[in-house]
Amino acid sequence: MAVDLHTHSHVSDGSETPSEVVRLAANAGLRAVALTDHDILSGLEEAREAAERHDIELVPGVELSLDWTSVVPDADRRGGMHMVVLWVDDEPGPLQDRLADLRRGREERNHTILERLAQLGIDVSMEEVLARAGDGSVGRPHIAGVMVDRGYVPDIATAFELYLGHGAPAYVSRKRLGIEEAISLARASGGVPVLAHPHTLELDDDSQLEDLLRHLRSLGLVGVETHHSATEPDRRRILRRMADRVGLLPSGGSDFHGAYKPGIHIGVGCGDLHVPDEFLEGLRAQRAVV
Ligand code: AMP
Ligand code: FE
Ligand code: FE
Ligand code: ZN
Repeated sequence: MAVDLHTHSHVSDGSETPSEVVRLAANAGLRAVALTDHDILSGLEEAREAAERHDIELVPGVELSLDWTSVVPDADRRGGMHMVVLWVDDEPGPLQDRLADLRRGREERNHTILERLAQLGIDVSMEEVLARAGDGSVGRPHIAGVMVDRGYVPDIATAFELYLGHGAPAYVSRKRLGIEEAISLARASGGVPVLAHPHTLELDDDSQLEDLLRHLRSLGLVGVETHHSATEPDRRRILRRMADRVGLLPSGGSDFHGAYKPGIHIGVGCGDLHVPDEFLEGLRAQRAVV
């Protein structure tokens, strides 16, 4: 059987409710699904209830964006490092406090983005963004969505390409956790830290990736997403062997965002994704080992 260990709901930048994410996972015949919204845990309770109704296991998770200049000095000129934490504790505690902090950082960043867009002649108000995003974790995809609604761009991908993405004129960075802090918060909250979609790091080559993975493993990282919607089957096999060599466990998921990332489906990604049960069991066995 299969699982999906990376999905988003409308609590962050997905389009579906947490219950709908779980229902789609059950419909796809999955044994387990992880809800991993960006910087926020408030969808987990609803997802847990839905999982009981649909007789599927819910792995409570979260996805964090990291500042990785401590391990690769020119990280900011490269891509983004994201960490998925599985089996996160959603009770109040240090992780929750830190997430609230990060969401405040998002708010400030979002205001700056709207100012930049206004200078570029694009009129998007915070009210419109919030009307789309709700009161969860508000981000660039919501701003992009309003730009599409208003006819400034044909789709969300174009909004990122022309305005909001790294290096584009309205790109503004935001507060992120350091790697060491993220790993220790994850571990302290009972979670299992997994490096998400390594291709977004935009490293030079696989030897650089392998060295980095080895280093992250020494800092306490447990797993790496070898399987992801944006990764071809051949690439999954290469990453799987690399994970074995460096002592990280394989993980994977669709990174489902609903209408915010059209064409990506729960469980199967772009069609050929299959994340085996054994990945889940391997990661689960690391929960108690702190
Ligand atoms: P934020 O967390 O607000 O900085 O926004 C980052 C999120 O935007 C990512 O988690 C993705 O969901 C989404 N995103 C990033 N780049 C793109 C892109 N090129 N096209 C569509 N969505 C993107
Ligand atoms: Fe996202
Ligand atoms: Fe991500
Ligand atoms: Zn994601």
